[in-house]
Amino acid sequence: MVDLGKLIRERIRDVDDYPKPGVVFKDITPLLADHVAFAGVVDAIVNYHGRGTIDKIVGIEARGFIIAAPVAYHFGAGFVPVRKKGKLPSQTREETYDLEYGTETIEIHSDAVEPGDRVLIVDDVLATGGTAGAAADLVRRGGAEVVGLSVLLELSFLRGRDRLRNLDVHSLVTV
Ligand code: AMP
Repeated sequence: MVDLGKLIRERIRDVDDYPKPGVVFKDITPLLADHVAFAGVVDAIVNYHGRGTIDKIVGIEARGFIIAAPVAYHFGAGFVPVRKKGKLPSQTREETYDLEYGTETIEIHSDAVEPGDRVLIVDDVLATGGTAGAAADLVRRGGAEVVGLSVLLELSFLRGRDRLRNLDVHSLVTV
């Protein structure tokens, strides 16, 4: 029996001072390269919610896509990308949120979710919660219901969960 939490911790690599001094980047590429860990993560997210309960999985650019796509397949749900401004080709809806320095804007295609859709948001890391909160707002503005947020890793010292009080936040590992 695999201890998934232990495996995830072992396969996420800390990279100091990336992409800028003072940041410890959580690199999930060793986890993705381990088929047991990757499959375990996908299964754990699907099992938490239960197959057939979700209509669409929203993946957040870019590492979120990698996890969200197999999750969508196993749920029997559609996949919807949320991307940085300017990357989606058709008509979009956008949300801007605060970063430590400056702001970020993310977009969803205007027709990607519909009223009545039950939507799960998936990303690799929950840090301050700004990105996930903005993604949830984009989905809700389309009239859909956000069932929750699933992440591999929650950086609890950044208190993202506090910023997302109206969301069911499911993290496989918390540090
Ligand atoms: P936040 O909006 O602060 O919750 O940041 C979440 C987004 O930034 C996610 O899409 C993560 O992939 C990325 N991110 C934030 N902090 C880190 C980190 N320390 N290591 C890797 N990715 C991070």
